[in-house]
Amino acid sequence: MIVLGILTAVAGCSSPTPPQIANTAITAPKSSKQSSKQVPKERVSNRPANTKGSVYVAEYHHIRAGKGDMFRSVSDFKADLEHYYKLGFRPVLASEYLANKMSLPPGASPIVMTFDDSTPSQIQLKSDGTVDPNCAVGIWQEFAKTHPDFPVHGTFFVLPDVMWGPRKFDPRKVKLLFDLGSELGNHTITHPKLSHLTDDKVQSELGTAAERLEAFGQKGPHSMALPFGISPKHPAILKGFDWKGSHVTFTGVFLVGANPAPPPTSPKFNRNRIPRIIAISGPYGIDYWLKQLEQGRVKPYVQP
Ligand SMILES: [Zn+2]
Repeated sequence: MIVLGILTAVAGCSSPTPPQIANTAITAPKSSKQSSKQVPKERVSNRPANTKGSVYVAEYHHIRAGKGDMFRSVSDFKADLEHYYKLGFRPVLASEYLANKMSLPPGASPIVMTFDDSTPSQIQLKSDGTVDPNCAVGIWQEFAKTHPDFPVHGTFFVLPDVMWGPRKFDPRKVKLLFDLGSELGNHTITHPKLSHLTDDKVQSELGTAAERLEAFGQKGPHSMALPFGISPKHPAILKGFDWKGSHVTFTGVFLVGANPAPPPTSPKFNRNRIPRIIAISGPYGIDYWLKQLEQGRVKPYVQP
């Protein structure tokens, strides 16, 4: 559920507008040593370097057909990947963006791909253990086969008791994400509106989730996405707190919607309130912001 009023009138999904910006397309490495980490040296776009430009943080929930802000259809998700690629975006993790350590080829713009709530359509395995080609990870893996410089590097803000259920949690999913170069982030345990909780309860939600992420193998400190984008009554908690003998901190705190984020070096960058762009076709969704970029109204971060 989205709390921002501007996101009420959501149009039906439509295919993204074809990109208008010319760029020198990357071809897949021809050598036999194809590696997902291989970064071509050719300039990705003809945009001039701009390390003061905006960073796009895309926000996905369900990757399947459905009504409302929480759904992106399989065909729209496929089109998104194509669109990002053609516009010169290359994926970086939330942790890389927050640390200002984005490994990008020259001319590329970063896109932080985030997935909230660990919904089933994000990652599923078939009975033989292989990835379901219709889940987000399966679709992205297939795309990365022909676009090796757009590897499956995403940030998954999971709910530790859900973990892509409804079936029993399968640790192979977490291992697969790590093997692919993705990461997990904190999204609390029960997805409450933090403003409704006492400070103790807020700390318990965030601290327990941090503990669970560590148990999954995701070393802290973690990034965090606020459920519903709602801060606790006392937002100072987000700067860190003592909990069960350890100190819990976050590398950054992400909101829900609704515009591109400043680069980490910007004076406008607020580590505890980082905006994201919801993957919808409606107002202030990803289609809108990509069009703004194509029309020159948004200047993206561009790697020198
Ligand atoms: Zn959520």
